[in-house]
Amino acid sequence: MIGDIDLKEKTIEKTMEVARTAGGAVKIAKDKLSDAINDHITNPAKEKLNEAKDKKEAQKSNGTCLPAGRDIADEQIKGPETSDKEETKKENKSKSESVIEFKNVSKIYAGNIVAVDKISLTIKPGEFISLVGPSGAGKSTLIRLLTGEEFATSGEVLVSGRDISKLLRKEFPYYRRKVGVIFQDFKLLPKKTVYENIAFALEVADVKTSEIEERVPQIIEIVGLTSRTKALSEELSGGEKQRVSIARAIVHKPKLLIADEPTGNLDPVATWEIVELLFKINNQGTIVILATHDKEVVDSLERRVITMKNGKIISDRAKGKYIL
Ligand code: ADP
Repeated sequence: MIGDIDLKEKTIEKTMEVARTAGGAVKIAKDKLSDAINDHITNPAKEKLNEAKDKKEAQKSNGTCLPAGRDIADEQIKGPETSDKEETKKENKSKSESVIEFKNVSKIYAGNIVAVDKISLTIKPGEFISLVGPSGAGKSTLIRLLTGEEFATSGEVLVSGRDISKLLRKEFPYYRRKVGVIFQDFKLLPKKTVYENIAFALEVADVKTSEIEERVPQIIEIVGLTSRTKALSEELSGGEKQRVSIARAIVHKPKLLIADEPTGNLDPVATWEIVELLFKINNQGTIVILATHDKEVVDSLERRVITMKNGKIISDRAKGKYIL
């Protein structure tokens, strides 16, 4: 009898060990697969980053060194915190549903200036879109129509099926948090530290101090600035400043990140680091719209390119090029 129990216990223990080992193997395989997918998806930006770094090295030996950049190739964007399972579930659900739609949208400013002219456009979850066009084409107006800073004169801008001009006043702050925007000139608070600039975005949204203390370091790690946490933003390089502004823009886990000429003030290495960071954020399910004049960036991305001219979309290609 005792022998029987011993045998059963040993069998149970053995089975559990096999299960544990199998579980571990599955996790390792999963991690490897996810790394491989990330590597594959971020490849164009990564290749260009390496090219830019090689160029910088060459310039260094010629005595024409660019400002230092850091390698973020191995840094991981973390998904929503695992403790926050409910929110993750909700976000995954809305990820498959949310879509942006412009239906015959026009924006006409005083003086009969037609900034956006009868545009129809659909953006699906997970897309990475370059928005290009000459100055005055209507790109900024299109962006402002999406952020809710402007409303269409005619037509509808639908986000997740809702016309944003019809959102209730009390819904706007929440909507704006779900649309992150970054600009060429960073728009940081110069006398505040990296930490304070990011925390500020949470403070104005009345997020609890304990949550701010938990989330800010996580976001700083995502954008690769942990060692600069206490630096004043005015002491940062251009690339570092843009990382802070990206951190601030993603602090509310937006569904959409709009980058309006984000690399306009950056050297080639910092440019590719920022593009790679945008790619990583996009890989986590955030739609990215990149308004840019950088032909090299657009051509290397091999993603959707929307070209505007005189308020109209003159080209919309899945793996487009900069055609102006
Ligand atoms: P882009 O971002 O492609 O340079 P914009 O959207 O800024 O183009 O501008 C499109 C057109 O609308 C331009 O002719 C511009 O002068 C005009 N415009 C933009 N904003 C305003 C405004 N607030 N009031 C009047 N006209 C504007």
